[in-house]
Amino acid sequence: MADCLFCKVVAGEIPARIARRTADAVAFYDIDPKAPVHVLVIPTRHVPAVRNAVGPEGEALLGRLLAFSAEVATELGLDERGYRIVTNTGPDAGQSVDHLHLHVLGGRRLGWPPG
Ligand code: AMP
Repeated sequence: MADCLFCKVVAGEIPARIARRTADAVAFYDIDPKAPVHVLVIPTRHVPAVRNAVGPEGEALLGRLLAFSAEVATELGLDERGYRIVTNTGPDAGQSVDHLHLHVLGGRRLGWPPG
C-alpha cells in the first residue's frame, strides 16, 4: 500500500535492520526498542491489523507469522529466559502503524499486566 510505513520497509524504500526474511514475512528491529531485544514481525503483504486476517488465508498467515516469530526469538537467543509476542490492535491498544505487526520482546523481565 502506497502510504504504509511498513510496506516501505518490505520494499526496502526506508532503511530497517532486518533480522530475518522469508517470502511472506519480514522481521526487523524496532526503531524505538522497549526491551533489550525488540523485533517486529510483519507480513510482506499489506494487512492492517490482526482483525483483518480472516478466513483460511488469514488463519494460515497468522500461524506462519507466529511460528516465524518464535523462530526469530530462538535465533536471537531468547529461548532460555523467555520472551513475549504481542500485537496491538486499534486505538485502545495503542496501535500506531496500520500494518499488522507482532512485537517480539525479550532480554529483560517483562511486567504483567501491560500498562
Ligand atoms: P504499535 O505501536 O504496536 O503500532 O507498534 C509500532 C512500532 O513500530 C513501534 O514500536 C515503533 O517504535 C515502531 N516503528 C515505527 N517506525 C519504525 C521504523 N521506521 N522502523 C522500525 N520500527 C518502527
